[in-house]
This record gives sequence, C-alpha cells and structure tokens, in this order.
Amino acid sequence: MCIYGEETECSKRKSQKDREWQRTGYYVEKRPICRKTFIVGNHHLDALINHYKKNGLVPRSKKSSFKRSDILLLPSAHTKTHVYQIYKTVAEEKGDRVVSATTFRNIWNSLMPNIRTCRPMTDLCFRCQSNMTIIFKSTNLGEEVKGARLKQQENHLTQVHEERALYQAKTQDAKLTCQREGIFGFERSAPYSRLMSMHYSFDYAQQVHLPSNPMQPGPIYFLVPRKCGLFGVCCKGIPKQVNFLIDEAHCITKGSNAVVSYLDYFFEHFGLGETHVHLHCDNCTGQNNNKFVLWYFAWRVVMGFLKSIELDFMPTGHTKFSCDQCFGLVKQAFKRHVVSTLDCMASVVDRSASCNQAQLVGTADGRTIVPVCQCQKHFEKVAKPLNGIKSQQHFRFDSKHPGTVFYRHRLSDRECSFQLFPNLNKLPCCNPPVIPPPGLSYQRKEYLFKQIRQFIVDPNEAGFADIMCPDPRSQQQKRSHSDIESEDED
Ligand SMILES: [Zn+2]
Repeated sequence: MCIYGEETECSKRKSQKDREWQRTGYYVEKRPICRKTFIVGNHHLDALINHYKKNGLVPRSKKSSFKRSDILLLPSAHTKTHVYQIYKTVAEEKGDRVVSATTFRNIWNSLMPNIRTCRPMTDLCFRCQSNMTIIFKSTNLGEEVKGARLKQQENHLTQVHEERALYQAKTQDAKLTCQREGIFGFERSAPYSRLMSMHYSFDYAQQVHLPSNPMQPGPIYFLVPRKCGLFGVCCKGIPKQVNFLIDEAHCITKGSNAVVSYLDYFFEHFGLGETHVHLHCDNCTGQNNNKFVLWYFAWRVVMGFLKSIELDFMPTGHTKFSCDQCFGLVKQAFKRHVVSTLDCMASVVDRSASCNQAQLVGTADGRTIVPVCQCQKHFEKVAKPLNGIKSQQHFRFDSKHPGTVFYRHRLSDRECSFQLFPNLNKLPCCNPPVIPPPGLSYQRKEYLFKQIRQFIVDPNEAGFADIMCPDPRSQQQKRSHSDIESEDED
C-alpha cells in the first residue's frame, strides 16, 4: 500500500484560504480507498511511515516480544545512589580516585544497563515468596530436597491456576447469560424473577480522604481529612460495579456486619432477580471468611430469596479481580478532580468510567441510606459455628438442604457438609436490627472545623464547608434548643 501524503483538494470558494488542517488521501495502485475499511489507525499509520522511511517498500515483519533474560534486579532499597555511596566508601578507604555521582550513573547506564533496581510491589503472595526463597537457597542441597521444594511451589501454583480458571469461567458464564437475557445494567428486580445464575464479586478498597485537590496545598499533607471508605460489588456480566461510599460518620464497622448489610442492600436494590448466585471475594477473615457471613447466606437460602449460593474465596496473595479494576478507575478519576463533599465524590465515581456507579451509605448531614444491621447477634442464638473455616476456600448453600453448608478446601477435594441451623423453626423471620450510625465525636468535629475547613474548595459557594466541616458549637446549640423545645412540648 502506498500513501501519498499532503495531497490537498481545492474548494469551490472564489477566495482561497491556506488549509489549516492537513488532509490525506489513501490510495492503493492509484485507486482511492476507504480508511475505515482498511483500519488505518494513527499509530498504525505512523509505524507504516517510519518503516517506509527506514526500509523502503518492503513488507514489515513482526518482532517477537520475548522478555529480556539478561536483566538482573537489585532489591528495591538498592537504588543507584545507594550503590554509589557504597562504591564511594570503598574507594576512599582504598585511596582510589572517586568519580562523581553523575559520571557513576553514566558509566552504569552505558556499561551495565541490564542491572536495574526492582520496583516496590504490594499484595504479593507470601507463600510464593517464601517458596521461591527456599528454592534459591537449595542450590547446594541434594536432588531429593530440591525436588520436594520445587514440587511444593508447583502444587501451590496449580491451585492458584485452578481458582483463577474457576473465576474466569464463572465471569464468562455471567457475560453470556446477560447477553442472552438482554441485561445491560443494574435494575431493581424481585427475587426469583429470572431463572438464571449470576456471578458477583465484592471487596473493600483503600479509603480516600475528603476534601481532595489535585493541586494539593502543602499543609494538608500532615492532617487527617474526613475519611471515606469504598466497598464495591461488581457484576462482570454487564459489566458494572456499585461502589458504596462510606462516610466516616456512617462507618460503624469494616467487619462482617457491614459486608452483610451492603450485600443485602445490593441484592434488594440492584440484584438482577436471579435464582442462583455465585460470589467471589478475597479471604480476609475479619470481613468475609467467617461464621457470620456463612450464617447470613444460609439464612437467605432458607428464607427463599435464592435457590442456591456458591461462595468462593480467592487464594491469599492472588486476589486481583474485577473489583480492583473498577476501583483503579475510580482512583484515577479521584486524583484528577477537586473533590470537596461526598456528593462530589459520588459524581466523580459515576463519571470515572461507564462501569462505575456510586451509592452513598449516608449523607454528610447524618441521614442514613444504607442501614448497617446487627447480623452477628441476630443469628448467634440459633446458629452453630463451623470449625476451621479459615482453611476452606469453597462454600455452597442449597435450598434442598436448608441450613446446611457444603465446604471443601480445593475444587478437587471431597465435599463435606455441616448443619449451621440445628432447628429451622427457631430461625428469625425478620431482618436483623439496625445499628444507628455513630456520627463524629465532638473532638473530631472540632478538628475538622479548625484544621480542614480552610482547604475546602467551593467555587459556587454552595456551602460545602458547612456540609463537610460544620461548626460543632452551633450544632450543639441547635441540639440544646431542640431539647428544650421538646421538653416544653412534654
Ligand atoms: Zn502464591
């Protein structure tokens, strides 16, 4: 294909202006072709032109993208400056001439570009790390020991692979189901309204602080602004995620009570009316992998909200899944916008990507939207705990066996069962009691008012400062006035 660049066409106007934008026509053997049909993107076109300039009219060959095997990594703490300091001390001790730091770097880059410093990483698998350390240390050991250590790591990786395959299969199923049923977004549906199975994953993200400003003024770095937690439930089938925004004043707990309450709200307001649910989450013991969450799911099946629930935990250290992807998009948008209030945060989440949707747990003035329930005490008297939950990865609840949990460690293991509710007649029919939100303490309100209020950006003077960091004294006065009035009424 040949490209004739800078070809312009005359317009029919009498007076001609210089063309501001270049127009390019595309021709193959002197015939004009449609750019869209031949999919000539800008990057593709640039690459073609560069190749043509370098090599002339010869077909392009694909470069194979293999990883460089000669790269040697230093630990992340060993930066070039650190290595230079060591070199300097040694050279000075020996009485050699010491080159400057810049020269040292230049020599390093020209002679040993393959030696680099490892970037810091988070959320790594401890088991993988310790296994790899053991393998590295086994160079001088016997073949049998080496083999055993390798086998141990191989076994772990096989398990990780199995779990990942299950997750991918389930999300793929969900996508196909949504396509078949014509579902393109969350909608409030009655339980049992669609005879289908759906997959959801849920997780907490790291909290953010409000107000936030991309041009962050220096002093706020040392302060603690108002905290806002993030809990997401993602349906990869659509694909969309509901992000629960939890204001500091509404954060009762980050434990199972909150997880269960948010999930309950999600199923009621955003659930697609499915009969079978498949859930994936990380195996954080405090939040997900505990007896309270099991009791809640078993209760949901007994009450007839769902026919079956499958709950699978991702293996520790290998828990990256769809929720993290959506949170990443939220965080990217969050970094770029001035966020003063919870409502601003909600609109940032809504606009961060088409997959994200915000749901406030409560407003900044104290109104609760998503109540957190006392699930733990609600079931404590009627349910039995399953021993050794932590070591299990897969749980299943079925309406044919009400109150029973089926569990196993690996997918290939034999399934065991346990009766969580010994007496089904004693089960509570009503929803668990609601825990009132704690609100902010007087000291915290005072801190926000004195330290944080000044950083709130409010271009339209919509009273953002009064919403996020109100004067605690005026609030107290208001309260005491209302107390007096109510006493008078009595
Ligand atoms: Zn691992």
